[in-house]
Order: sequence, then C-alpha cells, then structure tokens
Amino acid sequence: MSENRVVQGRMVTAEKLAELIEDDSVMEAESIADADTDCPDCGGDVLEVGYMPSVTEYVVGRKCQDCDWSETDRD
Ligand SMILES: [Zn+2]
Repeated sequence: MSENRVVQGRMVTAEKLAELIEDDSVMEAESIADADTDCPDCGGDVLEVGYMPSVTEYVVGRKCQDCDWSETDRD
C-alpha cells in the first residue's frame, strides 16, 4: 500500500518522507502511518515511517507535517 501524504505543503511518498527524515537517500520504505504523538515544536500532526537507510539497518522515523521537526528511533 502506498499512500501519499502532505508534508509542509508538499505531497510525499513514504520513500520521500524517509529521505526528508534521513536527509539522504534510503533503500526502501514502508507505508506512512500516523504517529500517536503531536509535534513537540509546533503541536502539529506527526507521521511515522519505517525504512532501511542501508541493507543492515532498519529505522523508524517520525516527521511533523507542519514544520522541520523529525526524529528517529536511533536518537
Ligand atoms: Zn511541527
């Protein structure tokens, strides 16, 4: 399932969302989900996506839909 979502005014795919979080290209990304949390910076809605930045690593990243805030589970 691939569903595009709006992040900071732009439509993004799961892979593009992962690249925004990673600030780099990723190998593979799962579908986008809604995170059970609000952005600590602006209170906006937060999206979550699992992805593989490399063959040996799996990361869950979160990104605000409204501002630059993001985090990963390796933080
Ligand atoms: Zn925010």
